[in-house]
Amino acid sequence: MTTSELFEREVKLILKDVGISGTQLINGVVNGPEEHWQDCPDRHCRGVSPEIFIPEHGNTKTLTEARKYCVGCPVRSSCLYQSLIDHDIVGVFGGLPERRRRVLRKWLRANGVRYGRRSSSLSPWIDQGEDVTAKHNSPLFV
Ligand code: SF4
Repeated sequence: MTTSELFEREVKLILKDVGISGTQLINGVVNGPEEHWQDCPDRHCRGVSPEIFIPEHGNTKTLTEARKYCVGCPVRSSCLYQSLIDHDIVGVFGGLPERRRRVLRKWLRANGVRYGRRSSSLSPWIDQGEDVTAKHNSPLFV
């Protein structure tokens, strides 16, 4: 298996874990999340100490504990999109630690997806009404 195929496989596994497609990921970061995860009364981390979501480096036990809250959370994908947009966010968001979010950012960059904070302007091809998926060639665009 080539490095590129291994990379695509890793991204595919991460997307499967979150329960979204590559196209949904792109739309989520380019257009911004549909809802603000912090406003959701049913988010699983409501009332939970934020420290849990900043696991010690290399401590898989604390990471697993944090991720348990995110499984089945109703705003998991929105939480992930926002954490990808806000590059300076640290800790577990959308059930993913920073290392996995870096993989997704790398994949987005590799596919020419430009995005930033919600306050910044949208990607030019969105403003022009173009189909974002037409610009990419990853097999994960489903
Ligand atoms: S996905 Fe996790 S961090 Fe995000 S709102 Fe839900 S429980 Fe909280």
